[in-house]
Amino acid sequence: MSGVERLDGGPRTAVVVGAGIVGLSTAWFLQERGVDVTVVDRTGVAAGASWGNAGWIAPGLAIPLNEPAVLRYGLRALLDPAAPLHVPLTADPRLWSFLVRFAAQCRWPSWTRAVKANLPLNDECVEAYDVLTANGVDASTVDAPITAAFTTPALAQGLVRELDRLAEAGQRVEYARLSTADLVEQVPLASDSLTAGVRIDGQRFVDPGGFVQSLGRAVVARGATVRSFEVADVLAERGGVTVKAQDGTALSADVAVLATGAWLPALAARAGVRTPVRAGRGYSFTVPVDRPVPGPVYLPEVRVACTPYRGGLRVAGTMEFRDPDAPLDEARIASIISSARPLLAGVDWEGRTDVWVGPRPVTPDGRALVGATRTPGVYVAGGHGMWGLAHGPVTGRLLAEQVTTGKQPGALRELDPLR
Ligand SMILES: Cc1cc2nc3c(=O)[nH]c(=O)nc-3n(C[C@H](O)[C@H](O)[C@H](O)COP(=O)(O)OP(=O)(O)OC[C@H]3O[C@@H](n4cnc5c(N)ncnc54)[C@H](O)[C@@H]3O)c2cc1C
Repeated sequence: MSGVERLDGGPRTAVVVGAGIVGLSTAWFLQERGVDVTVVDRTGVAAGASWGNAGWIAPGLAIPLNEPAVLRYGLRALLDPAAPLHVPLTADPRLWSFLVRFAAQCRWPSWTRAVKANLPLNDECVEAYDVLTANGVDASTVDAPITAAFTTPALAQGLVRELDRLAEAGQRVEYARLSTADLVEQVPLASDSLTAGVRIDGQRFVDPGGFVQSLGRAVVARGATVRSFEVADVLAERGGVTVKAQDGTALSADVAVLATGAWLPALAARAGVRTPVRAGRGYSFTVPVDRPVPGPVYLPEVRVACTPYRGGLRVAGTMEFRDPDAPLDEARIASIISSARPLLAGVDWEGRTDVWVGPRPVTPDGRALVGATRTPGVYVAGGHGMWGLAHGPVTGRLLAEQVTTGKQPGALRELDPLR
């Protein structure tokens, strides 16, 4: 244990439910503070959204989802089954109640509040990754700008306005407008349709599944056990907590952390967390490319993110509000391909592999849920939406501080799960 503050008589044992980037980071930072950890996942390490995402550690682009433009766009998308934002016209009343709450938060004051709430996470997210990789997590992150590419300079100007808004709210953002020639140098796969770009500097990317698996191995090497069962309930009992499976399996500890991503409400609602979390499902796949791409590429017009991945390109997109366990819908993959195909050249779309769907844990107000619940000894960490990979390690560090010192760090005030 490094000389960090802990509460005398504070927790010595913890069960972390959920082995994604958020749960495993929390486990790692709890261990750093001398807590014995058991991690439980219903499937295994990186089984949820933390596997096939775009891998951007992008504090300069961490734009909350609840922008007013998303609302206007969302209403149009309802009528277009091929749109990147997809809401199935089902009769699930909880989904519609979530969407109504989300729509009410698509206002500049709520968006600005979410940006400000994210500032401490953005400020420290890269450093939190460095702490992990400098201390036994055997994976690397890559420094690279993210290049956004557009068909017209006017559309590029739209992103510049958004970045300026982020900067006005306090986010450090460094960007440069790119001419067509600069764009082609930065994005060798740009087709002739792309004529303007914006380069966002000082960002990183990572192989997210590989990173989370290394983090899982590091947590085990530091003494944790990883158990595989679905947690059905978490109760405060005998001065601690009991984590229970449906079949009667039970684990006791001083505290429990619920880090179950888009599945969070099933357990968190019983602990008094009223802010809902819904799955905004995204899809990805990997394609062979003719020319290597030096860094991530963002295609805002079609809402597609591309990242260099194991010698090819991982292509990710779509926001589909649907049950996190629903099967993969091939039609969404086809929509991503048909929208991105005209913008990129030298991509073997038919040679795609690793086709994947995963659920972003989305809250209506664009703020994550990190901290104590009404049930003594039970904490939640989740709801990071589009930016949980970037914000996972710093979240784990801040929550471990709260759990072991009993004090809510200032950075977590706006993320209080009981708001
Ligand atoms: C297409 C796509 C692209 C993305 N790109 C980026 C990006 O570039 N950068 C970025 O920062 N973020 C990105 N994200 C978002 C990011 O992936 C998520 O915010 C993040 O992975 C959430 O991590 P988590 O640990 O909270 O949840 P998850 O990784 O989903 O982990 C939750 C875990 O809980 C387990 N679980 C659930 N219920 C139970 C239960 N009852 N008992 C036991 N275990 C349970 C699940 O099996 C799962 O392993 C992207 C997401 C998608 C879908």
